[in-house]
Amino acid sequence: MARKKEKEEKKIEIEDLLKMVKYVFATKFTLESSVNVRNILDILSTRDDIQKLETMINNRFAPRVETECPQGHITVLYIEGRGKLKLKVKKRKYEEVVKAVLEGRDPGSIQCPHCGLPAAVKFVEPSKLMIEGVFSLLRATEETIDAYLEAYVKKHPVWTWARYVKGLGPANTARLIAVIETSRSNKVADMWMRAGLAPVAVCGNKCGWWSKAPFPEKCPNCGGSVVKVAPTKLVAKIYNVRFKVDYRLMKHMYVLSNYYLVMGRNFVYGIIAQQKMKKEIEKGIASGLDEKIAAARATKATWRWLARLMLEHAKAVIEILRGTYQGPPPPVLRHGQYIPPLVDDVERAERDPDFQKIAEWYRKHMDIDILEYSLQLKK
Ligand SMILES: [Zn+2]
Ligand SMILES: [Zn+2]
Repeated sequence: MARKKEKEEKKIEIEDLLKMVKYVFATKFTLESSVNVRNILDILSTRDDIQKLETMINNRFAPRVETECPQGHITVLYIEGRGKLKLKVKKRKYEEVVKAVLEGRDPGSIQCPHCGLPAAVKFVEPSKLMIEGVFSLLRATEETIDAYLEAYVKKHPVWTWARYVKGLGPANTARLIAVIETSRSNKVADMWMRAGLAPVAVCGNKCGWWSKAPFPEKCPNCGGSVVKVAPTKLVAKIYNVRFKVDYRLMKHMYVLSNYYLVMGRNFVYGIIAQQKMKKEIEKGIASGLDEKIAAARATKATWRWLARLMLEHAKAVIEILRGTYQGPPPPVLRHGQYIPPLVDDVERAERDPDFQKIAEWYRKHMDIDILEYSLQLKK
């Protein structure tokens, strides 16, 4: 029964997918008009959905070892994953059976895990043609979406800087644009808050009070203790509050930041994130935390910090080019020095007269050579 249900779900998903692909190809929009500030979030989310679907389908069609009994019970014992033999049915006795099948030996007779009747064990490999067909459709859809995003992003002023930053391709740049351009406020602190990147305070008594910085010492509502937290959905549930956070934006910022945390050393924003991470871990250990807990906390603090930094940089670049930038806000400067917008491709940025307008602003107003700053980091 479970098997039948799964098959139905599979069919629906692929049909939906085909509909989506047909829609993308059939739309008569020109590249320019198909992506705009209003729908950029939907387009980005669709792109992420397709990537998720790719992973899901990949897992679903992975080669496997199954038993099938005369009553028609199909039990998956093992799905080929990365490396280690991990049984789907948690019983020792099946391990030998799976090993035998994988090594091409006769597994001998086996009982159906459901009814105990003698069952056949086999290695099942899904149709490669089918998978490749589905994947080529998915990839074509993704490429079409990327072409839309690219056309949009390249016309945006932020591209003057983003084009020289490794990791800021059309999709990641669009994530930054989405947060900035959909904001009703022009303050970067408000953008951080809306994207769930700024710490908030909640009442320890769970009276429903919450606040953005600056935080009072006691809850003004009931006098309870003030707890500093990240405005996640879980925290909102625990403390009985509703943060003014758009969780879609938060997810996009997480995807962006996490990319740099994983890519690390070869990317200028990866380098700066690693430096911050190291500091946070040291801080945690110094305050008496266990090394593992300190590292977990540092990761949470660092991804939000990096997203805040990159948002400030994107906004600074846009406003400098529009002639309206007033300089970085106090929170960016609070802890030590200001980190200016960074680039990986210093040589090409140096020759770009549009980029020079940004560099000139930092030389004149903050006495920072942003290209030199990037070079020093990459050493
Ligand atoms: Zn059976
Ligand atoms: Zn309270």
